[in-house]
Amino acid sequence: MKWTPGSRDSIEDARGRSPMLRAGLPIGLGGAVILLIGSWLTGTNLFTLLGPSSDVSDSPAGDSRPVATTPEEEKMVDFVGAVADDLQATWGQLLGSRYQRTKVVLFRDAVESACGMAETAVGPFYCPSDNRVYLDLSFYNDLDRRFGAPGDFAQAYVLAHEVGHHIQALLGTEASMRAEQQRAPSQARALSVKLELQADCYAGVWGHVARQPGRFLAGRVELEAGDIEEGLNAAAAIGDDRLQRMQTGRVVPDSFTHGSSAQRSTWFRRGLDVGTIESCNTFGGLQ
Ligand SMILES: [Zn+2]
Repeated sequence: MKWTPGSRDSIEDARGRSPMLRAGLPIGLGGAVILLIGSWLTGTNLFTLLGPSSDVSDSPAGDSRPVATTPEEEKMVDFVGAVADDLQATWGQLLGSRYQRTKVVLFRDAVESACGMAETAVGPFYCPSDNRVYLDLSFYNDLDRRFGAPGDFAQAYVLAHEVGHHIQALLGTEASMRAEQQRAPSQARALSVKLELQADCYAGVWGHVARQPGRFLAGRVELEAGDIEEGLNAAAAIGDDRLQRMQTGRVVPDSFTHGSSAQRSTWFRRGLDVGTIESCNTFGGLQ
């Protein structure tokens, strides 16, 4: 990818204010084992397992500790900022006045969101209650080393998928999906998969725009040769079937929550190729 460090307007830096348990221990030293794979990979509601947020004393907002960081990490923050700015500008153009900005909250170890307490092990997530994307940068190491999905566009795809959930919140798709899950509990898992695949497709829609030549010279993010393959590889790498095989050696399709590797890369590719919101109607029966 070609990009230039710009503003960090899309970032809320919470790396210096990780919430702590009253006992003074970081959340989840043991819990991390149970929640190892997390909502990004296996489900959506792992936050509640960590208990009510009243169990937690948090530094007041604005009272953050200085962040110990490295030049490499700051470069990663700049990258996330540039991609998030580009995602927001792109969706602003696609949705016009329907678009409202989001923030990418960077955290370490654990974070308190309006959806509850979450720790790094749940992976990146979007909270529809506060309309924010949450990301611990250490996930990118996992993506590369643990899931075999290296590359900057693989990292951008993860962010674009979460911003895809923001689009679903803005357009009301997320709310109507939840209502439908209440109405038809037996369909809950299938509906969740459709929502996830649509977020993959929306990530592709952004990629469709970002691959247009000349963007970099105009100060925007621009894809390069090999980026599409990195993104498709990442979408396949975190398909439920491949993850299940990594964890248990077996594939149980009924427990899929995000879609198989083939489904995820198919829908990401569809967004990339067609580039319209309409092309992402995963709820329309096309699988
Ligand atoms: Zn998702």
